[in-house]
Amino acid sequence: MKNYFSKSKEEVLQEFQTTKNGLNSQEVEERVKKYGKNQLNEEEKVSTLAVFLSQFKDFLVIILIIASIISAISGNIESTIVILVVIIINAILGTVQHIKAEESINSLKSLSSPKTKVLRNGEKVELSSEEVVPGDIVFIEAGDLVPADGRVLDSFSLLVNESSLTGESEGVEKKSDVIEADELALGDQKNMVFSGSLVSYGRGVILVTATGMNTELGKIAKLLEATKEKTTPLQVSLDNFGKKLSLGIIILCGIIFAINLLHGVKILDSLMFAVALAVAAIPEALSSIVTIVLAIGTQKLSKENAIIKNLKSVEALGCVGVICSDKTGTLTQNKMTVKKVYVSGRVVEDTGLDDTRLAEDIVLKESVLCNDATTEVGDPTEIALINLAKKYSVDYKELKEKYPRISEIPFDSDRKLMSTVHEIDGKITMFTKGALDSLLPKLKSIIHGNEIRAITSEDIKEIENINTMFAETGLRVLTYAYKGLECEKDICYEDENGYIFVGLVGMIDPPRLESKEAVEKCIMAGIKPVMITGDHKVTAKTIAKEIGIYQDGDNVLEGVELEKMSDEELKEKVAHTSVYARVSPEHKIRIVTAWQSLGKICAMTGDGVNDAPALKRADIGIAMGITGTEVSKDAASMILADDNFSTIVKAVTTGRNIYANIKNSIRFLLSGNTAAILAVIYSSFAGLPVIFAPVHLLFINLLTDSLPAIAIGMEPSHGEVLKEKPRDPKEPILTKTLSSRIIIEGVLIAIFVMIGFYFGYGEIKDAFKGSTMAFAVLCLARLFHGFNCRANSSIIGLGFMSNPFSVLAFFIGFVLLNGVLLIPAIHKVFEVAPLELNDILIIYGLALIPTIIIQISKYFKYKR
Ligand code: ATP
Repeated sequence: MKNYFSKSKEEVLQEFQTTKNGLNSQEVEERVKKYGKNQLNEEEKVSTLAVFLSQFKDFLVIILIIASIISAISGNIESTIVILVVIIINAILGTVQHIKAEESINSLKSLSSPKTKVLRNGEKVELSSEEVVPGDIVFIEAGDLVPADGRVLDSFSLLVNESSLTGESEGVEKKSDVIEADELALGDQKNMVFSGSLVSYGRGVILVTATGMNTELGKIAKLLEATKEKTTPLQVSLDNFGKKLSLGIIILCGIIFAINLLHGVKILDSLMFAVALAVAAIPEALSSIVTIVLAIGTQKLSKENAIIKNLKSVEALGCVGVICSDKTGTLTQNKMTVKKVYVSGRVVEDTGLDDTRLAEDIVLKESVLCNDATTEVGDPTEIALINLAKKYSVDYKELKEKYPRISEIPFDSDRKLMSTVHEIDGKITMFTKGALDSLLPKLKSIIHGNEIRAITSEDIKEIENINTMFAETGLRVLTYAYKGLECEKDICYEDENGYIFVGLVGMIDPPRLESKEAVEKCIMAGIKPVMITGDHKVTAKTIAKEIGIYQDGDNVLEGVELEKMSDEELKEKVAHTSVYARVSPEHKIRIVTAWQSLGKICAMTGDGVNDAPALKRADIGIAMGITGTEVSKDAASMILADDNFSTIVKAVTTGRNIYANIKNSIRFLLSGNTAAILAVIYSSFAGLPVIFAPVHLLFINLLTDSLPAIAIGMEPSHGEVLKEKPRDPKEPILTKTLSSRIIIEGVLIAIFVMIGFYFGYGEIKDAFKGSTMAFAVLCLARLFHGFNCRANSSIIGLGFMSNPFSVLAFFIGFVLLNGVLLIPAIHKVFEVAPLELNDILIIYGLALIPTIIIQISKYFKYKR
């Protein structure tokens, strides 16, 4: 390993042939070819063939193979061929669907891949971290994930957490100075940063020395166990259900086999009965439907600006009972404009400053100098301040060049302050701006016009009053203070003291237009919206009231009050508290935990570097796509591409809808299967001939049933899901209501299937025709039943065409069925008897009746 820590910055820059403009496009291209992308080699991909072969491990497929053997033994070669073809088609479909689901997950991954700021062709650009190459100059700041290994070129209070590499949870301070040593442990390489660590404070500039598998993280990547969550709780519970069902089916098949033997049926026929029953009972499409619906759902969510990082969260979304949201930028527009300024003892409008006086002049200078933004980029709070100065013809660039920053302590949301040092007209001056509560105890003097004097208790009272007055109109307030320093120096926290108060700047950040409606929807859906903000209590409450989050009688809690409470006390208060103000990221964890101890599933937003633990703790951690730090995105389970609260509500609605759709698909598949099982059992007990050939049931289960099941999974939201309470996460998917519906609808269809059978069987006991009619009624009745399972409301309420996929699925199934019934050439393969027009009409009629009955009952039940 090369020891870059013992080399000077210039030596390293030269070694990588990087200039102060960074790399140019051609150099980048060459280096990508030479070093590859900056990514860790993912575990080896399972080959398509292996995926295909794994489809044959299924219990169903084994049953089908047995069925094909029995068919062959009984001399029915066509049937054997059909079954084998079906097995292969099924395996191909399974493979395609597996690959599609992987693709959709991978595309989501790339949507949420971390970004980094790089100097290229002399300009600072934002790229996906994958595109970083050795020799790149990269800018890192609090909240970033370090994208690659690098030598520190510049450090401004840069603090990096390297716990993922060294296990040391304390942040390490990074400097650019050369370290004279031959060998050093990673933790001691204080002028190097390593891929995968988190920048917890300050900012820095680094030269990338290694990327991808060549980084320190890459070296240990092979040892790290990839914790991929491939299956969701729903999939696990359905798998378990499938296993239990299989066991039940085997037992049932054994019983039916024995009964038939006792009835004197031949062994082969009895076996055929048992196999038909097994094929009828196994819901082949179930697990693939769930995967498909979840995959389609996550795609839909990403179109709605909610990027889901794992499928598990889609399910949890549907259970969310509390949404704890940041205020600034999520509920509000994050478009700040200064409205009022309090300086020299009076409140003036944004354009009313008399900048010939010292106090007012300091307001303008501090606005620009104690500020990291430009007019376009940066924190909106700070952009607003630059814009304020512009109103007084201050050229912010010129001012920044004239009075360069000598030292700084960056803003952080725990301290709620920011300080910078400049030399102004020969005097070393320290500016500090931030929250009044943080600055008030540190004030010593006050400036009025051109005069500085000691601050009095009356002054403080007035400042507090003005602060409250600003906040009551929803303004976000920043306090300005400054002081002189004896000499140039690197400031630290101890220097933030003994200030001269300058003024208060109040800025408006209007609520997003959609917030109010989204809050209403939340409340209607039984979800509690909660505002958690670093802002002032009164500002927060005013905005919360405007949006509808705060209602009369609710509590508003402040961070300091929270600190005094025990967990038990907080648990008692939490349900009635709708606003938390002046909250630090650490408090968020306590709020989430308190809600969780009340049994609620809690979604929590966060954007800052310190929000990661709360995001991890929440059931759904939500990071901000635009303003969020990379660390918060890394910890979150969902990323809001538009930072918008209403997107969370949309995502919850979609999450509920996806779950409802999966449930409806299951209802559709299982009720159809129940009908088939009941028909088989009935005919066995009644001593009738084998009612269905396995090929019939395969045709239905694998062809005509799969499409409506998928179409049901794609049912759009009808708002029904918002009228319900959040789902209990422990509630099984097969609730009592669902099971009873499945049974009732199954019985209903089975009755008409048997009527169909008797029609065909007739007095002459034509078993072949009877079986054909039973098969056709079952198939068509299930196709019609697809419309019943779309949602709770009747089809009139839903609108026939509101889900065009369901119409298409029906149509395809209908054509396939009629093809089988009407094309004589394939009759033998599908084991159907030729039918007359009359029979066909009877089939249509019988198949439609269960759906008419179900629709009428729905109409009356869900009329409201
Ligand atoms: P949230 O996004 O969580 O709703 P917020 O963005 O209002 O809250 P913070 O950014 O932590 O919360 O701001 C908290 C307080 O810190 C503000 O009310 C303001 O007084 C002060 N503050 C915010 N930004 C700056 C800044 N750039 N410089 C100095 N002080 C700031």
